[in-house]
Amino acid sequence: MKSTAKLDISRFVNISPKYMYLFAYICCLLVHGVFLFYFRYIGVTEMMYFNFFSVAMYLCFSLMLFRVKNLTPMTCMALLEITIHSIAATVYVGWGFGFAMFLVCVVPVPFFINFKRNITPYIITPLIVAAFMGLRVYTADEANVVYHLNDETSQIILYMFNSFFAFLMIIGISGIYKVSRQISQRQLKTKNETLSRLAAIDPLTQLFNRRAMMDFFKQIQRSAEAVHSRYIIAMGDIDYFREVNNTYGHFCGDVVLKRVSAVMSELVPAEGYVCRWGGEELLFAVPNTDIEAGTEIAVKICEKIRSMKFCCGESSFGVTITIGVCECGEDIPYEEGLKIADRYLYDGKKRGRDCVINGDIQ
Ligand code: GH3
Ligand code: MG
Ligand code: MG
Repeated sequence: MKSTAKLDISRFVNISPKYMYLFAYICCLLVHGVFLFYFRYIGVTEMMYFNFFSVAMYLCFSLMLFRVKNLTPMTCMALLEITIHSIAATVYVGWGFGFAMFLVCVVPVPFFINFKRNITPYIITPLIVAAFMGLRVYTADEANVVYHLNDETSQIILYMFNSFFAFLMIIGISGIYKVSRQISQRQLKTKNETLSRLAAIDPLTQLFNRRAMMDFFKQIQRSAEAVHSRYIIAMGDIDYFREVNNTYGHFCGDVVLKRVSAVMSELVPAEGYVCRWGGEELLFAVPNTDIEAGTEIAVKICEKIRSMKFCCGESSFGVTITIGVCECGEDIPYEEGLKIADRYLYDGKKRGRDCVINGDIQ
């Protein structure tokens, strides 16, 4: 199979979006660290304390991240912290420093949170938008701004710093969205594969079930017709199995059924298919095989089962199997082949069981 060169980020984060969250928390921690020193430098003490709290909060989040199962409370707190910080910083130093930009960036965050009600993000986001617009109007009047800082260079530098991290935040949020989507797609794929495998396998014998085998038959028939090849269908039935159940119990019957199935799986070539056709009837099909080779496989299975000893409690006993083999291809499709193999099996039962019938023996 050809490998693709597609970039799947989730591979590098060890299938856990928590690494993305850790990166986000560390970024927030560092940014608030910068704010802390900046506000101290310009003498905005209230915001300095606020940032002290923010640094402590993101430090705790980073340390706790891999211990908590539910990230919702942390994400809610981070959303609240960013919102309040943006509002407070804008009110303290004015619109020109660009703190309000973070309000725009957090708009997608409520959609990542698993709220109990689906409507919640649609309630939170208008509030954020209202806060952004309200702030613009409120700070338009210079008198409402608490600190009047006239250092234009410092304002430009901080504006650039805030813009850079606002963009980084949007990139980060988009990255988390992409990774989460890739992870859920991969989980869904694995679950689907497991489900289809479970739907195709008989739980007792671990062989394919009849439904799955019917699908394989269609494929086998199609390819046989495409390349004009032959394949065999062999229908086996354990002899006097009712007696095994009656004498040694149903549980013991199950053990016999499992071991006989395992022998069949082992002796049928790798390109073949083995299935539990129903009850104690087992069937196998081998593509690109003629009646001689198919009969040889069936005979080996018969011989192997005949030679086996089954132990149930104190008692030990043997079982045999009768198999009917039919060659199929363009002229004999699998529907007909199944009927023929079944008829041969019935013939084998009439002839005394423990044998392989392929239509040659009269
Ligand atoms: P024959 O040689 O003609 O095939 O005789 P038989 O006794 O094997 O045939 P019959 O069809 O009368 O009996 C089949 C028995 O297989 C009956 C049923 O209880 C048993 N059986 C079917 N499925 C299972 C199973 O999953 N576990 C067990 N333990 N027995 C099963
Ligand atoms: Mg039977
Ligand atoms: Mg039967």
